[in-house]
Amino acid sequence: MKMMKRTYMLTACVLLFAAACSNNEDNNNESSAEETGAAGNADAAEENSSETNEAEEDTENEEGNRADAPDDENGQNEQHEDNNGANEENAVEEEEEPGYYSIQGDSSLAPVDDEAEEQAVLITIDDAPDQYGVAMAEKLDELDVPAIFFVNGHFINDEEGARQLEEIHELGFEIGNHTMTHPNLSDIPQGDVESEIIELSDMIEEITGDRPRFFRAPFGVNTDFSDEVIESEGMQRMNWTYGYDFDADYMEKEALEEIMVETELLRPGANLLMHDRDFTYEALDVMIEGLEDKGYEFIDPDHIE
Ligand SMILES: [Zn+2]
Repeated sequence: MKMMKRTYMLTACVLLFAAACSNNEDNNNESSAEETGAAGNADAAEENSSETNEAEEDTENEEGNRADAPDDENGQNEQHEDNNGANEENAVEEEEEPGYYSIQGDSSLAPVDDEAEEQAVLITIDDAPDQYGVAMAEKLDELDVPAIFFVNGHFINDEEGARQLEEIHELGFEIGNHTMTHPNLSDIPQGDVESEIIELSDMIEEITGDRPRFFRAPFGVNTDFSDEVIESEGMQRMNWTYGYDFDADYMEKEALEEIMVETELLRPGANLLMHDRDFTYEALDVMIEGLEDKGYEFIDPDHIE
């Protein structure tokens, strides 16, 4: 049933996405996203304590971009989909009321039609699949929460890693490109930037059958050249609006559970960054429940145009 729904939604999505693309050739998200990324670039420091940098990026990104909250309301799209998902004949009608979101310059998501629930957030899991990716996917699947897993090539270049990626993909999760080896793209030659991105897309496609459509740069550091590669690959760039599991103060279950839900950065359309980590996995239930208690729904990446 779930697979049927996903297959159906994917088909509808492809059709719609194609339509959307032809209508929005120069999508202004791209240009505003560029500015956000540029602001972020300045702060990208060393690589090794990887996610501390992401914390800085995050703060940078968030500060400047808090104003544009979407203002659409209502929309019970998920339910609608559930009721009709299995019925092929309704497909055309469904497409007329899709409940779609678009990526904003600060990487938040804004409803693009009345069917899209305004009070919704996107869940993303980076640096997967390491130790907990599959378990996190299983837990999210249990909770019926969609998400994007941004994967690195060094986690999927052996049989076990490839199997884990396949498992996450088969549970219906969107797989995003987070580069082969997680470099700071501003520190490496252009040829390497290209292979970091394209070779991973090739690898993901080989394993899952699907080429990734979302790209997230390590540390949120995009460059003009990486933007060109993304564009030529037909991918969409996505940083995040907040996350805490890379901040030493929140690298344990209880602290993380609380901040992810109580932070003032939680708002409609927020793009939540998490990682493939033990404490994040342990905190997942309570975080999701906390977000639901605050009235938030979860954005299906298939519904991002
Ligand atoms: Zn990362």
